[in-house]
Amino acid sequence: MSNRLLITGGTVIDPAGKREGKFDVLIEGGAIAAIQPSIKAREGLDVLNASGKLVLPGFVDLHVHFRQPGREDKETIETGSRAAAAGGFVAVCPMPNTDPVIDHRGAVEWVRHEGERVGLVDVLPVGALTKGQRGEELTDFGELFEAGCVALSDDGRPLANGLLMRRALEYAKVFGRPVIQHAEDPGLSAGGVIHEGRVSTILGLRGIPSESEAVIVARDLALAELTGGWVHFAHLSCAKSVELIRQAKQHGVRVTCEVTPHHLALTDAAVAEFNTEMKVNPPLRSEQDRRALLEGLKDGTIDCIATDHAPHTDWEKQADFDSAPFGTTGLETALGVCVKTLIKPGLLSWSQLAEKLAVNPARIAGLDGDGLVNGHPATLTIVDPDAEWTVEPERFVSKGKHSAFRGWALAGRVAAVIRRGMILGSDG
Ligand SMILES: [Zn+2]
Repeated sequence: MSNRLLITGGTVIDPAGKREGKFDVLIEGGAIAAIQPSIKAREGLDVLNASGKLVLPGFVDLHVHFRQPGREDKETIETGSRAAAAGGFVAVCPMPNTDPVIDHRGAVEWVRHEGERVGLVDVLPVGALTKGQRGEELTDFGELFEAGCVALSDDGRPLANGLLMRRALEYAKVFGRPVIQHAEDPGLSAGGVIHEGRVSTILGLRGIPSESEAVIVARDLALAELTGGWVHFAHLSCAKSVELIRQAKQHGVRVTCEVTPHHLALTDAAVAEFNTEMKVNPPLRSEQDRRALLEGLKDGTIDCIATDHAPHTDWEKQADFDSAPFGTTGLETALGVCVKTLIKPGLLSWSQLAEKLAVNPARIAGLDGDGLVNGHPATLTIVDPDAEWTVEPERFVSKGKHSAFRGWALAGRVAAVIRRGMILGSDG
C-alpha cells in the first residue's frame, strides 16, 4: 500500500471543524492533505470507496480494562486492541487495576510498549492514584506522567480518603491532567450487587443506592473547586450526579465526565432474571436516572461516552448473581448501541455523537481533538449507519464473550478505521 489514500463519496461529519457534507478526503504521509467536494483519483493513490458511509473523526475510549498484566485469560492488550479497532476506536485508555497495578514507571512503560508492539490502536495508559490502589499513599505523579500516563485513577475502586483526593487534585493540576474518580462510597455500597430500588427488593438482592455515587461526586466537586484541579468522573449512573455536575460546570469548576452505553440504554429492570451479564458497577439504575443521563449528554453536562469495557471469563460470569464479577464487554457494541439509543430516537445528531465518541474524549486524553484539518494526523472512523446486525458475543474479537446487549438487533457498523493514514484491520 502506498502512503497516499483517497476516500471518496462519503459524508464527512466533523464537529470540531464544523463541516458536514459530501467530501472526498486525500491523505498523504499519514496526514490530511485535502478535503474537497471532489478529488480526482490519480495513479499511485489507493482509493477507499465510502459511498453511503459516514466519515467521522476517530473514536477514543477513555475507559477500558485490558486485564494485562495478570489476567490474560480475560483479555490482553493485543485482543483488547483488536476489539477496539473492530469497534471503531483509534485510541483507548486502559485502567491500572491489573496485577501488578500500573503504579510505577516500569509498568506504564511496559503497557505502552506492548500497545506499540501490537500496533493497532493507541494505548494510552491511566496510572494509579495510590500505590497498589490501596488508597493509602499517593503514587509518584511526576514519574507516571513522564512515563506517558494521560490521567491517574484508582478505578475499580474509589479514592475514598478526602485528604488524598485533595492532594491528588493539587498534584495532577501541576501537570494539567485529570484525576479520574470512580465515584462510590464504599460504606454505602458494601455488599451491594444491584441498584437499590424496587427491583432489588423484589429479587431480594442487596442494593447500591444512587447516593453512594452522588456523595462522592458532591465531595470531589467541592475539592476541585477548592484546589482548582481537574476531576473527571467515570461511568456516571444517576440523576443526582448529573445535576451536581451541571451546577458545578455553571460555577466554573474544572470537571468532565463520561457515561457508558449500557447506562444510557438499560435500567435495573434488565436484571429481573438474575442475569449476570447485567451485573455492572455502578449498577444499571432506574428509568428516571437513565433519562437524566440522556438529558445530561444532550445538554453538554456529560462530555463523552466511554465503554468501561470489562471482559470476564465464562466460569466467572456464570456464577450466581451475588458472586459473579461486575462488568460487561463494550468495545464492539458501543457504536450500534449509541445509534439505537441516541441517533434513531433523535436525541443526538451524528455530529453530536461524534463529539461524544471522538472529539471530547480525545481532548480529555490530551490528543488532537481538532478533527479533520489539513496537515493534522488522518485518524478517522468510517461508519455504515444503516448496516444491521445482531449482537452475538461468541463472535466478539474480545476474549470477553459476555454482553449486556446479547441478542440485540442493532444498526450501525464500523466500515473502516484509519489511524495516521493507515487502514486498520481488527485482525491486524
Ligand atoms: Zn469504575
